[in-house]
Amino acid sequence: MSNFKLADRLAMLPPYLFAAIDKAKAEVAAQGMDIISLGIGDPDLPTPDFIIEALHEAAKKPVNHQYPSYIGMLAFRQAVADWYKERFNVDLNPNTEIVSLIGSKEGIAHFPLAFINPGDLAIVATPNYPVYPVATNFAGGRVKYFPLLEENDFLLDLDAIDEDTWREAKMIFVCYPNNPTAATATPEFYRKLVDKAREFNVIVVSDLAYSEIYYDPAKKPLSIMETPGAKDVAIEFHSLSKTYNMTGWRIGMAVGNPQLVAGLGKVKENVDSGIFQAVQEAAVAALRHGEPHAEKFRAIYKERRDVVSHALNKIGIRHRVPDASFYLWCNTPEGHTSSEFVTSVLKQTGVVLTPGNGFGKPGEGYFRISLTVNNDLLEEAVSRISKL
Ligand SMILES: *Cc1c(COP(=O)(O)O)cnc(C)c1O
Repeated sequence: MSNFKLADRLAMLPPYLFAAIDKAKAEVAAQGMDIISLGIGDPDLPTPDFIIEALHEAAKKPVNHQYPSYIGMLAFRQAVADWYKERFNVDLNPNTEIVSLIGSKEGIAHFPLAFINPGDLAIVATPNYPVYPVATNFAGGRVKYFPLLEENDFLLDLDAIDEDTWREAKMIFVCYPNNPTAATATPEFYRKLVDKAREFNVIVVSDLAYSEIYYDPAKKPLSIMETPGAKDVAIEFHSLSKTYNMTGWRIGMAVGNPQLVAGLGKVKENVDSGIFQAVQEAAVAALRHGEPHAEKFRAIYKERRDVVSHALNKIGIRHRVPDASFYLWCNTPEGHTSSEFVTSVLKQTGVVLTPGNGFGKPGEGYFRISLTVNNDLLEEAVSRISKL
């Protein structure tokens, strides 16, 4: 049935690099070994009760049972604007500079459809969240990768991007705090990025999913929107998923340049019908009253980070102690590729790690640990690895 053959855009997806791990995981589970997964970036802690209560109340209102607007309730967009003002001292017009999203993944995935024509070029800083290149390809665009290197603290070296590429590129994707490397951006980095983007008329896509998972209040992650001139060139994606343990709720936002926000809105107008309004009301409660809870979650991640970092030091696994995100980006022991190491740890201990090369070539030689399980499991996991 040749008509049932997958379309080229799916057939040309890169090979699934976690396939070997999935196979090993199934084998290990079949042997009855208990598995500890440090592989998934999905918070294990529950959503705070007051947010669930807000959903419950909002779900009872018949007005919320009808189609929402694709752009999102004004109350939600206003809460986002107030939150950005409070957190970053950034002014956003809720009517023109904010659009609601069904999680930021949805927004990132649809954004290239609004601005990428077939053949257009996007720059992706890699190792990377897989959605950036896939979404670019779905829109018919091409991707050029530039590596995030340890010697640059995993900050993209903007000078390493040649002038022809800057001229040719339509957009550039960056993510700080970074998944998977856990690196954070500096004001100088964003200033230079915004300058380059203005000079060469390139759209900047900033993914800020992890801004609220930080460990030192003196080193809070930045929004690119804090940079003068950013609104001329940038759109920023954010969501409530990581901040308030709401990955299952599917609500996020894109903010920034009004033309970019409107373009994304136009795609969404044609493909979805917005977010359940009760979820939006709950999200308003989260944005307005969630900070004390976010504070508690940070304290929990910090304890976990320190437990794991201490244990890794004891067994001689080199890693960076992150300032933000709930990931540890670790060097594989001498003489092991990412896949070899991760597969052998899994087979011998039942501990699931994520191989760095799964996020792109420069991730080779690294593996990622996610701090989304409790201290006991983290300690048990590292203790098993130490016995190898
Ligand atoms: C988790 C994550 C997201 C967002 O997830 P949503 O739940 O769709 O908001 C976006 N970018 C990165 C890099 C992530 O890790």
